[in-house]
Amino acid sequence: MRRALEIATTGPAPLPASSSGGPDPGALGALGALGAPGGPGAGESAGVDVPVGAVVYGPDGTELAVGRNERELTGDPTAHAEVLALRRAAARLGRWRLDDCTLVVTLEPCTMCAGALVLARISTVVFGAWEPKTGAAGSLWDVLRDRRLNHRPEVYSGVLAAENAAVLRAFFR
Ligand SMILES: [Zn+2]
Repeated sequence: MRRALEIATTGPAPLPASSSGGPDPGALGALGALGAPGGPGAGESAGVDVPVGAVVYGPDGTELAVGRNERELTGDPTAHAEVLALRRAAARLGRWRLDDCTLVVTLEPCTMCAGALVLARISTVVFGAWEPKTGAAGSLWDVLRDRRLNHRPEVYSGVLAAENAAVLRAFFR
């Protein structure tokens, strides 16, 4: 989860330095992994992406891919951290099935991302802060554990929830 939080708080539009557990210099490697242009943002919130980060780990615990919410950056409504991380992990493995992989994300997945996680057959999902307004992993819906679907990942909810929520609160303040 620390790594996902690091991804969330770095990238093309870093949070102000006052953010909890702010960007650390070692996290700059994430920029390359994300293929994002460098350079700090102006600190404005208009047009700046909500800081959500995701990491996909392979069966042996190796980090396969990361994703940061890039909806504003790319103008793509589907560019959520989880979707980007899933796509990159699948590209790296050369297959769409991510059996035995784990996705860690700083915020409870939305319906789109929860659906994508099921479709990817991901084995384990770990998320941080709860999202009561759009969450689809236990808040509004529970897509990940819906018995009507043919795949149900194991879910670990609310990991470092307070810390992850603080990062989002700092962004929206
Ligand atoms: Zn989403």
